[in-house]
Amino acid sequence: MNPIIEKIANLITSLGTVIFVLLMTVIAMIFVGHGLYYQVFLKNMAPWQADVAAWVLSFGVETTVLVITCNVKYFSSRQLPVFFAICSGFIVLFFIQAFDMNQPVIDLAIRWFIGLLVAGVNYVYSELFVKKYNDEKYKTDLLGQIKILNQKNTESNLELESVKKDLERSKQDVERLVDYVAELEVFKKKELDKVTCSFCHQVFKSVYHLASHRTNCEMNPKKGERDSVFEAVV
Ligand SMILES: [Zn+2]
Repeated sequence: MNPIIEKIANLITSLGTVIFVLLMTVIAMIFVGHGLYYQVFLKNMAPWQADVAAWVLSFGVETTVLVITCNVKYFSSRQLPVFFAICSGFIVLFFIQAFDMNQPVIDLAIRWFIGLLVAGVNYVYSELFVKKYNDEKYKTDLLGQIKILNQKNTESNLELESVKKDLERSKQDVERLVDYVAELEVFKKKELDKVTCSFCHQVFKSVYHLASHRTNCEMNPKKGERDSVFEAVV
């Protein structure tokens, strides 16, 4: 996609644009509300009082609608945006005197169309804002979770490296131990051979015991003859 068109598309679909358009309708409704309330209050108040009261009430009503719309998830009823959209439609209808039946039909139709359009736009934007805001929040949460998972992954990798090194060291230790055991076995065999009779394979406590036995060993073909020192040790 063309980068400029992509930027425009991102701008149109962004939360900022939704908020901007929502605020525009709110500002427009403040003026419309003021016009309607002023006409009503003028019957019981001085003009300056009616003017101030109409501005304050209109601003108060529209900001309340805005706050309730944006926090509609905290209310059990999902019908509030519909109710306020209908109210805003009626404010416009009253303001533009859509109930004055003395007007030509085409004028009445235009006024009712404007009233319904404002109500529809108000409702659509309030719904859109809540959904868009939830989407953005979900995206932010996901990004946060990805960040945490990445951090955990890095920590796990470091731990794995450390465990691998420990394992490698242990493996080397075991190999050395096996070598020692083998050497010990050889040494043990040599020591045993030194005190074992080569004829009957009996094991003695010391070389001296063996030497005295060998000359009298039953299986010694030269029984009774004295061994040379060399033969006694071997
Ligand atoms: Zn013997």
